[in-house]
Amino acid sequence: MYTDMTDENDKLQEACGVFGVFCNDPNKDAVLPVYYGLLSLQHRGQESAGIAAVKNKALECRKGMGLVGEVFNPEILNRIQGPAAVGHVRYSTSGTSSIENAQPFVSRFKLGSIAVAHNGTLTNADVVRELLEDAGSGFVSSSDSEVIINLITKNYKKGFERSLTDTIKFIKGSYALVILTDDALVGARDPNGLRPLCLGKRDEDWLLASESCAIDAVGGAFVRDIEPGEVIVIHREQVVSFSFSEKTRRALCAFEYVYFARPDSILDGVDVYGARLRAGQILGRESAAAADLVIGVPDSGCPAAIGYSRATGTPFGLGIVKSKYVGRTFIAPNQDLREKAVSVKHNVIRSEVQGKRVILIDDSIVRGTTSRRLVSLLRQAGAGEVHIRVCSPPVRFPCFFGIDTPHRKELISNTNSVNELCASLGADSLAFLSVEGLLESLDGEGGYCLGCFTGEYPVSVPGEANSIGS
Ligand code: SF4
Repeated sequence: MYTDMTDENDKLQEACGVFGVFCNDPNKDAVLPVYYGLLSLQHRGQESAGIAAVKNKALECRKGMGLVGEVFNPEILNRIQGPAAVGHVRYSTSGTSSIENAQPFVSRFKLGSIAVAHNGTLTNADVVRELLEDAGSGFVSSSDSEVIINLITKNYKKGFERSLTDTIKFIKGSYALVILTDDALVGARDPNGLRPLCLGKRDEDWLLASESCAIDAVGGAFVRDIEPGEVIVIHREQVVSFSFSEKTRRALCAFEYVYFARPDSILDGVDVYGARLRAGQILGRESAAAADLVIGVPDSGCPAAIGYSRATGTPFGLGIVKSKYVGRTFIAPNQDLREKAVSVKHNVIRSEVQGKRVILIDDSIVRGTTSRRLVSLLRQAGAGEVHIRVCSPPVRFPCFFGIDTPHRKELISNTNSVNELCASLGADSLAFLSVEGLLESLDGEGGYCLGCFTGEYPVSVPGEANSIGS
């Protein structure tokens, strides 16, 4: 019997990536740039991908299960041309992993057509869905994102902008939205800016993206982040921006910097690589251990390992290799193979670690399965001591804002003290970055959601006692 113990399941999983292009020239094509943008956002979701484009008020959409490169080929891309397009890559946190829940969601109706791509999770989706169903609306998916498109179309007779602001005043939770109408590309970010969204430009064309790395990928220039509570409407003649919420308090997900985002992205003015480097430096300052070598768990542990090395003077080395070709079809080892510490995902460079006291830097510990296996592999390869240092605080609480977290009791730091966890992982010592250290690694000014570390959420969550208000 195979059990679900992949290394991927030992990480919090990102929810989605969104990308949109609006070409001022109606003869230009926006679909190919969206395809390239989605490829560079693939790390944010690998379950399904979709692109919708509009041309002469006709909206076409193609979506499928799998990676962007699996869903789209030149023939399919040719069938959906248009000067404005939006795209989406999905990892399911709300609704099942199925084609019905793949995005963008599309609605064609008497007054026009609309496509919606959503990154985030609505905390009141069930209530809103019930109200809509009672009022006669039908749903084709189990995704919370379909609630958004249903609300917009229901109120469309008031005009698009009015129906959008009415919708986003009604929904709660996290959302970075990229919306395509017959004649506009629209971006919106929730009042706390929990999920990232930024604006770029390429010649006369406008771009909206979850991360700035996608703007770079299509040869665009970063313009600015969309502000929490801001809507931006891009028409051929003009770009209009307005705030739909008086009460905004920035609370961008701190885990974007720890693990989710690509290191070459800049989110809300803070570059991700720099934040990881600083986290490692602060970790070195907070909890140095005598050692001969510091190594990072690839990929996101490596910048922090470099930072730790710089802060402590411990030499940095590449002690662990990660196979990039173990994909979604990976069949996890059975109990017998696991006990032999078989790992197809990671392997240790024996000559680098043999006889050494090793510091192993990881970005986070969720279930602890990867750390336990790596400690075992390092010891088998002859490491004298293994000290784990984690460049984020212990993950003790679930996320309600679009990140897939295991149940509370499966979060190993929820049920174990640091000493108990250290013993369970088989390490010689274990230390985590403090919450203050994490904030210092960002910009020291706050404005981040730290809910999965502290249990204090920026938006009240049904059934959860703690909220730091909005
Ligand atoms: S609870 Fe954690 S993962 Fe979720 S948005 Fe907040 S910081 Fe990010």
